[in-house]
Amino acid sequence: MNLIFEKSTGSDGINLTDKTDNIDFIPSEFLRNKTVGLPQLSELEVMRHYKELSDMNFCIEKGFYPLGSCTMKYNPKVNELLSSLEGFNIHPDVKDEDAQGCLELMYNLGNALLEITGMDALTLQPSAGAHGEMTGMMIIRKYFDTIGQARKKVIIPDSAHGTNPASAKMAGFDILEIKSNSKGQVDIDALKHVLDEDVAAIMMTNPNTLGIFEENVSEISKLMHDNGSLLYYDGANFNAIMGYTNPKLMGFDVVHLNLHKTFSTPHGGGGPGAGVVAVCEKLKDYLPVPIVDCADGKYYRNYNVSNTIGNVKDYFGNFSVLVKAYAYILMMGKNLKCVSENAVLNANYLKENLKKYYNLPYDEPCMHEFVITGETQKEQNGVSTLHIAKALMDENAHPPTVYFPLIVHEAMMIEPTESENKQRLDDFINSMVKIAQECKNNPQGVLDAPHSTPVKKIDEVLAARHPDLNYKICE
Ligand SMILES: *Cc1c(COP(=O)(O)O)cnc(C)c1O
Repeated sequence: MNLIFEKSTGSDGINLTDKTDNIDFIPSEFLRNKTVGLPQLSELEVMRHYKELSDMNFCIEKGFYPLGSCTMKYNPKVNELLSSLEGFNIHPDVKDEDAQGCLELMYNLGNALLEITGMDALTLQPSAGAHGEMTGMMIIRKYFDTIGQARKKVIIPDSAHGTNPASAKMAGFDILEIKSNSKGQVDIDALKHVLDEDVAAIMMTNPNTLGIFEENVSEISKLMHDNGSLLYYDGANFNAIMGYTNPKLMGFDVVHLNLHKTFSTPHGGGGPGAGVVAVCEKLKDYLPVPIVDCADGKYYRNYNVSNTIGNVKDYFGNFSVLVKAYAYILMMGKNLKCVSENAVLNANYLKENLKKYYNLPYDEPCMHEFVITGETQKEQNGVSTLHIAKALMDENAHPPTVYFPLIVHEAMMIEPTESENKQRLDDFINSMVKIAQECKNNPQGVLDAPHSTPVKKIDEVLAARHPDLNYKICE
């Protein structure tokens, strides 16, 4: 560290000069002979700078955030407080007997999640949805290895989240993609066509990424099981079905949940997550170790799992995320069912109101989210989905997920979540209607949007490939 401090202009936030008293012990060749030109700012000015930066950001605290497949719901602030209680500040190397409270919490959370998913055993270790997927696929791989079947293929519908094929591939499988039918669901004939004794599993999302519930899930489950194959459930967005049905009833063998979507951890920006993986009875001996267990009223980490795939995350996983999920589930109780009820109601309300103005490729009752497109606007007014999304930023709304799922052209994937009231939903409908009219009357205005944000339309490729993050010295 530099020990020659800036010549003070009187604007330092902190006075470090007395620390330069005794630097004789540092060989002179290692000493700086000129200042580095650090900014000279008072604490107040620094604070204002960061506050201003944070104000430029959009967040759920500022406005509507309908980012489909992301479940940007309101996460009670009190859960942040609870997860930072001193007792939860657990040392990674603590002994089981000194961590009884924390282990009890993990054990109870595990049981609650088993009840919600209907499954038989679980791991709380994985730190993200994709991490959970990989863990689940490794379990499936090990299961087939153990029973002496070298099944190599995994079937994935073309509407799947991109992490699904990536995770299956990382676990050593080859991917077979199957097309969706005209109702946006798994095409049973296409499935039968690729199903053979080399197929280990199918990875499904239900409701799928079009927000549509797979009506034939029981038939699919029977087909797969009759073939000796397993079913993996991507439960990242569990917001649509809680209390109504569960993956076990649908015939799934492995499921992952994103606690950082459905269970009260704010996400985005790469913060900590938890991709809990739950399995059916016959896969429980393959779970990662340790699993949290209880015997004679004592909680402990159990390493005695016969066919374990090993450990997938150090120590207690992302423990603070587990605390928030537990607090959330206790707080909601049986009202978890209302979460799904309102999430589905809100999505259908938006869909029905927006389909008069935007193309709706699959006109089916939706679950927690739905997909509309900007195709009409693109054809008739030369305004694409990207521009419509940017125009929403002038309306105090975060743009929805765009150009996903890949099977829908000009897709806008909208997920309002249960958190929003009718007033907010109506505001959003009005904004979308206004933009649709603007596309007709003043397309250039939409093409040039956003108009009110701190930076206008940015070159996203350049911003990602060549980010300019350095502090620049102003002479
Ligand atoms: C978010 C999401 C994932 C991945 O979760 P991460 O925590 O981002 O790794 C997987 N599947 C679906 C359907 C998702 O929405």
